Amino acid sequence: MTSFHDFGLAEPITRALADEKYVTPTPIQAQTIPLVLERRDVIGIAQTGTGKTAAFALPILNYIHANRRRPEKKACRVLVLSPTRELSGQIVDSFHAYGRYIRPLAVALAIGGVPINKQIRSLAHGVEVLVATPGRLLDLVAHRALRLDQVEVLVLDEADRMLDMGFIHDIKRVVAMLPKERQTLFFSATMPQEITRLADSMLRNPARVAVTPQASTAEKIAQRVILTDKAAKGALLADVLKSEPVERVLVFTRTKHGADKVVRGLAKAGLKAEAIHGNKSQSQRQRVLAAFRSGSIRTLVATDIAARGIDVDGISHVINYDLPNVPESYVHRIGRTARAGAEGVAISFCDHEERAYLRDIERMIRMQIPATDRRTGQRPAQHAAPHHHPAKRHNGHAPGRRQHQAGRSNDGNGQQHGGRRQAHHQERRKSEPSGLGNVTFLQRPSAPR
Ligand code: AMP
Repeated sequence: MTSFHDFGLAEPITRALADEKYVTPTPIQAQTIPLVLERRDVIGIAQTGTGKTAAFALPILNYIHANRRRPEKKACRVLVLSPTRELSGQIVDSFHAYGRYIRPLAVALAIGGVPINKQIRSLAHGVEVLVATPGRLLDLVAHRALRLDQVEVLVLDEADRMLDMGFIHDIKRVVAMLPKERQTLFFSATMPQEITRLADSMLRNPARVAVTPQASTAEKIAQRVILTDKAAKGALLADVLKSEPVERVLVFTRTKHGADKVVRGLAKAGLKAEAIHGNKSQSQRQRVLAAFRSGSIRTLVATDIAARGIDVDGISHVINYDLPNVPESYVHRIGRTARAGAEGVAISFCDHEERAYLRDIERMIRMQIPATDRRTGQRPAQHAAPHHHPAKRHNGHAPGRRQHQAGRSNDGNGQQHGGRRQAHHQERRKSEPSGLGNVTFLQRPSAPR
């Protein structure tokens, strides 16, 4: 497929795509859209940044357009389950953007952390599309504000993340309430056995499509490493923020606590910053994100999980205050910059304990990141390999083992994962597809807004 016109999508949709300036379908779109139009169930192995939202939203909108009927009260025709509030919001934005010429089109959002009453009202007359996180969805059902027996299409997005976040039972409860006669689209970045079992229980004769982002980093991102002492990172950050031509900067820390600490440290240095992470309320997150978007806050400090849903253009710099212990997270993080055709800068602070992480990252992206040593002021010819391996990953695999395994990153948040998480990771490793490095990350030239 070289053009969106080849799919035979209805005119209101192709018009919206022209507005979005989408010309060429991405690989996941090229593979998925025809299958969904044929009403097949689909398992899509793809992650954010591959264009998977449009891959399901476009053919679903086409179906709605071709099969107009008034939604029943308190019911939805299409249900999209997504793990986080931010991702859910983005999916709603995408449906609004691609469906702007389909009228009427009611798209509702049901997420936790905000009052339920407005959501109850928005569902009263029924909607075409409901995008929801599983917990709030079940709350709405319990309030008798929503019935699920009219669902014609179910989308489960980021299934592996749902599993990580402990939603599996909620999902099973939701699926049990849906009509058996439906179309199901199931997306996951990885397919560990538990996810495969879940998919098997939900899908009928599914077609399988897979695209995995290549383990390479965007060319437009100028990457640098600063070797530093752990204790000096706070001062180094203030220094970098004062000396770099920063427009909008996303600073990554491994933990929520770390994010707050960085914000406090910057405040002491006279620099305004805000943190965004799972402990913040939804209204706090929205306020902070709006301020970041508008430019009134230049520096946002985030954990990997919290940053996952941030869809903000114009991020000139990404700073890894802590290096992630899973190399793919590095690629995800720095992919936040250099969007919309802009150039981006990614600076990573690396202390002694993080040297092994750096080595893993460099192996995965197959390049050595230029480094400065802030302790000596010299540029080392090569990063010294640590004598021991203090940063060895919890799974005990040798660094670099994953270099040909493209796949989904750990969140690096280090907070919620016990043994189950470890087991899950090991399982993932076994079942991740390999040799599918045919796709690069989308640079999000125009986010649907
Ligand atoms: P997603 O993987 O769904 O999060 O999409 C990643 C980004 O790519 C979003 O900002 C989309 O607006 C953008 N996008 C999706 N499909 C296309 C396309 N075919 N051409 C250009 N941009 C796209």
